Formats: sequence, C-alpha cells, structure tokens
Amino acid sequence: MSGPDTAAGHYDRSVPECLFCSIAAGDIPATVVLDGKRVLAFRDVNPQASTHVLVIPRDHYPNVAALASAGDGLLDELITEAHQVAVAEGIADSGYRIVFNTGPEAGQTVGHVHAHVLGGRPMTWPPG
Ligand code: 5GP
Ligand code: ZN
Repeated sequence: MSGPDTAAGHYDRSVPECLFCSIAAGDIPATVVLDGKRVLAFRDVNPQASTHVLVIPRDHYPNVAALASAGDGLLDELITEAHQVAVAEGIADSGYRIVFNTGPEAGQTVGHVHAHVLGGRPMTWPPG
C-alpha cells in the first residue's frame, strides 16, 4: 500500500514501483528543468504544448489531495515551482495552465502527484 495514511499522519517517502519516484531518485532519466530540494520539474515525454513540464514532490503522494493534507507547505512550494517554470519558459505573461489530473475520469495515469505546466499556445475551454 502506497501513499499517505493521513489518519496515522505518515506516508511512504518513496515507492519502489513508482515511475516518478524513480525519476526523482535519478534511476530513470528525465530532462530536468528545475531541481529543488523537495520538488523537481522535468519535461513531459509526450508534450501536449510547446511547454509541457511536470512538477513533482520528491516524496511520494498519490494525488493533490494527499499532498494538501500533508500541510507542511509542500503544495505551496510545488505551485511556486510551477510558476517559476512558467517564468523560465517565458510563458508567465502570455499565460499557462497548471493541471492536476486527479483520478481515472480526469485521466490521471501516474499515481505520484504531478502538476502539468502547459503553455506556449492558445488553449480552449472547456478541456477535452
Ligand atoms: P497524468 O496522465 O497522470 O495526468 O500525467 C502523466 C504524464 O506523465 C503524461 O503526460 C505522460 O506523458 C507523462 N509520462 C509518462 N511516462 C513518462 C516518463 O517516463 N517520463 C516523462 N518525462 N514523462 C512521462
Ligand atoms: Zn512516487
């Protein structure tokens, strides 16, 4: 069983079979954009816009709700890092999206929370 146990107030810091834990550990290569102590930003392998970067906490949380429940400022740090990615990519003024797909109907395919930072092209609403 992976992920936080909020009732017990603990979580698994790293899950062996988790793709993004492996990227955070450097065991699987990724194109890193920003490298922080607690968060990591790297390019999505299948980009959906000219900028498509994933921002993750190094520790394993299954989704954004679990990350929020940790309550130690890590979610704030993740969002700040996402904005820094947008600045570094030159899309902070033109506009960008931060997306947390959460659960199967939303299209979450990796069970380690990640913010998609998307920009560099006009986007429509509602999303597909
Ligand atoms: P989700 O569908 O869970 O919201 O997003 C998962 C994202 O991870 C997808 O956009 C997918 O392209 C990306 N992804 C899947 N495997 C890899 C990988 O090995 N490396 C990188 N950089 N991105 C990946
Ligand atoms: Zn993980």
